[in-house]
Amino acid sequence: MTDILTTARTRVLDEGQGLDYDDLIKVLDLPDDRIPDLLALAHEVRVKWCGEEVEMEGIVSLKTGGCPEDCHFCSQSGLFESPVRSTKLDIAQLIEQARQTAKTGASEFCIVAAVKGPDEALMSQLEDAVQQIYANVDGIDVAVSVGILTPEQVARLKAVGVHRYNHNLETARSYFPEVVTTHTWEERRETMLMIKDAGIEVCCGGIIGMGETPEQRAEFAVQLAELDPHEVPLNFLDPRPGTPFGHMEVMDGKDALRAIAEKALDRGTGARGLRSIVESILLPVMFSIPDDTGTGEVIITGDSVRTGADPQLLTHEEVAEREQRSA
Ligand code: SF4
Repeated sequence: MTDILTTARTRVLDEGQGLDYDDLIKVLDLPDDRIPDLLALAHEVRVKWCGEEVEMEGIVSLKTGGCPEDCHFCSQSGLFESPVRSTKLDIAQLIEQARQTAKTGASEFCIVAAVKGPDEALMSQLEDAVQQIYANVDGIDVAVSVGILTPEQVARLKAVGVHRYNHNLETARSYFPEVVTTHTWEERRETMLMIKDAGIEVCCGGIIGMGETPEQRAEFAVQLAELDPHEVPLNFLDPRPGTPFGHMEVMDGKDALRAIAEKALDRGTGARGLRSIVESILLPVMFSIPDDTGTGEVIITGDSVRTGADPQLLTHEEVAEREQRSA
C-alpha cells in the first residue's frame, strides 16, 4: 500500500491537486512519529504554491459583543455570560486604525462586526468607512467581515471596493447544528458563494477542536476546498468561560498540527492560524505553513494580537491580565 505522504507528495506538491476525503482521513490518522515528515511536506507545499512571502493583515472590530447569534464557542454572543463588553468604533477611529495598520507593513485591513448580518445603519457606516480609508490611507486593501449578506449588500460592498470578505463555515456541515442553532451552515455558504461570484476575494475557514470527529474534520476540509478560498483562517477552540463550549478541553497539540497540515494538503495552499491556544507548538509552524497572518487590535474571544511594527501573539499571562482588566 502506498504511504499517504508519498501520495500527498505526488498529488499535492507535484501536481497541485488537493487530497480527497479518504486520504485526508489517513493524514489525520498519521502516528506521532510521522508528524515532522508531514509538517515538512506541508511546508514544501506552502512554499511551492504560495511562495515564501507572508501577508500581514490587520483586524479591527467595528462592533464588539452583543451579537444575537448563539455560536457556542463565541464570547461575543449576547446570549451568554462573558467578559466581552459591547463597544463600537466611529469612522475617524477606523481611519486611524487603518493608518496604524499600514505602518506595520500589513497589506490588508479587515473591519469586523459581531452581528448576524449588517442592518442599514451598519451598511452605510461600512460604505463610508471603506471609501474614506481608501481616500486617506495609502498601500492597504480593505476587507470586511459582517456576517450573512443579501445579494444587494454584496453588490454594495463590491461597489465601494471591498477587496476581501471573511465569513467562516466554522465546521463541517454535519456538525454545524451542534455549534450554532440561530442560523444555518447553508446560509453561511450561500454568502460566500455570492462573494465569490461578485469577484471579491473569499476568506473562509473555521474552528477545530469543538468536539467534531476526525471524519468531520476531513469533511470540513473538503467543504472548504469546494469554495476554493483565497485564504483559510484556521482557529483552534479556546474554551471561553460562560459559553456553551467553555467546559471543553483544549485540543491536543499534535492533533492541531495534523489538522493544520491536513488543511495545507487539502487544497495545495496554506492556511492561516493565530489562536493562542497552541501557540507554543504553533510558533515554528506559523513560519512554515500559513501564507497570511493577522495583526491589529481585535477582541474576539478575550485575547488579541499586538499592534505595532513587531506584531506578536500575546502570552497566556498577558491574555489573563487583559481579561482581568475587562472583567
Ligand atoms: S461567531 Fe459571529 S455570528 Fe456567531 S455569536 Fe460570535 S459574533 Fe455572533
